[in-house]
Amino acid sequence: MKNVIVIRYGELYLKGKNRNYFERILIKNIRHALKNHTCKLEVGRSRYLVTDYDMAQEAAIVQSLQTVFGIYSLSVAVCIPNDYQTLEQYAVAAAPREGTFRVNAHRGDKRYPYTSVTLAAKLGEAILSAHPSLQVDLHNPQHTVWVDVRENGTAYVYGSVQEGAGGMPVGCAGKGLLLLSGGIDSPVAGYMMAKRGLCFDAIHFHSYPYTSERAKEKVIRLAAQMQKYCGKIRLFSIPVTKIQEEIHARCTDSYMITLLRRAMMRLAEKTAQRFHCDCLINGESLGQVASQTLESITVTNATVPNIPVFRPLIGMDKQEIIDIAQKIDTYETSVLPYEDCCTVFLPDSPATRPTLRRAEEEESKMENYEELLSEALENLEILTV
Ligand code: ATP
Ligand code: MG
Repeated sequence: MKNVIVIRYGELYLKGKNRNYFERILIKNIRHALKNHTCKLEVGRSRYLVTDYDMAQEAAIVQSLQTVFGIYSLSVAVCIPNDYQTLEQYAVAAAPREGTFRVNAHRGDKRYPYTSVTLAAKLGEAILSAHPSLQVDLHNPQHTVWVDVRENGTAYVYGSVQEGAGGMPVGCAGKGLLLLSGGIDSPVAGYMMAKRGLCFDAIHFHSYPYTSERAKEKVIRLAAQMQKYCGKIRLFSIPVTKIQEEIHARCTDSYMITLLRRAMMRLAEKTAQRFHCDCLINGESLGQVASQTLESITVTNATVPNIPVFRPLIGMDKQEIIDIAQKIDTYETSVLPYEDCCTVFLPDSPATRPTLRRAEEEESKMENYEELLSEALENLEILTV
């Protein structure tokens, strides 16, 4: 008998011609998630197996695997010889002691003496006589005992299926650039895109000395926490202090945020080009704040007509976003109180319905705007995550 963890991946997207491509990335990501555990990964045709691990590590291994996008479910199983006597012994052991159950048998080896239906019925009977207070329920059982007979003389038996992270393997959908603020939303936005297979670098805008060193450390920490699900993230940091000072000195107060966000998008697009990122990602959610009304998004988006901007949170409520932030462990860091550059020179009443014409007029009041943008880009720093 050998303890194994059965890994199942999303069959749907793996069926086409790209199967090898997806699988290669998924296997690489699984190996990466397992790198701190002593174990082996066996790569089979329709599933993968983790074997040769210390039982004390089992729960930790399952947890690591649950951070890998592309894995749909996992089972902790025993791998045993597939003769009927042994199957029965382990099926009885995997069965619950009370409630309703069914046996789900699968026969990969068609030469096996019993069909899956007969095998399930025989094992079900054996389980019932061992635990008489159980009841069979084929349609809506509380528990299922799975028995999977393989071609090579072995079988897997297990009593539960745990959910995986779902989604697509990170890296299979290209690379983007995440605008990472230090708030609650943007790490969740990154997580959502990683779930669809995108890997990304991140860019943070700061207004040192108005914003503190600790605000920067907070963003580094967020990026580090996101790597658990999102793979390796490079973090860029760009100062927008001078741009903000200039906007504050020359432009109408209520357009402060609109203009700052337009500058951020321009800087993000240039950075994306420089580091070969093919889309931008931000944490905007429609109507959440003044800068996220349809009018505001239209005016900021107009600065970047040549690159797609993904806003995976656009239709989500704040509470839904918070729930995900808590699940992926970024929430506690996000709510640390260090100020963001958006709160520097914050106007009393920001425009909720800015217009493009007015935004352009305001920008033309700054004589050295282009130079300030170039200078900010020159001061890009790559932070170690
Ligand atoms: P978050 O919780 O992500 O900070 P928010 O609700 O505070 O979002 P805004 O401040 O309007 O909303 O920011 C909207 C989006 O713009 C953020 O989700 C993020 O993607 C980007 N953004 C805002 N500030 C910064 C920053 N200082 N650096 C990088 N990106 C930023
Ligand atoms: Mg914010």
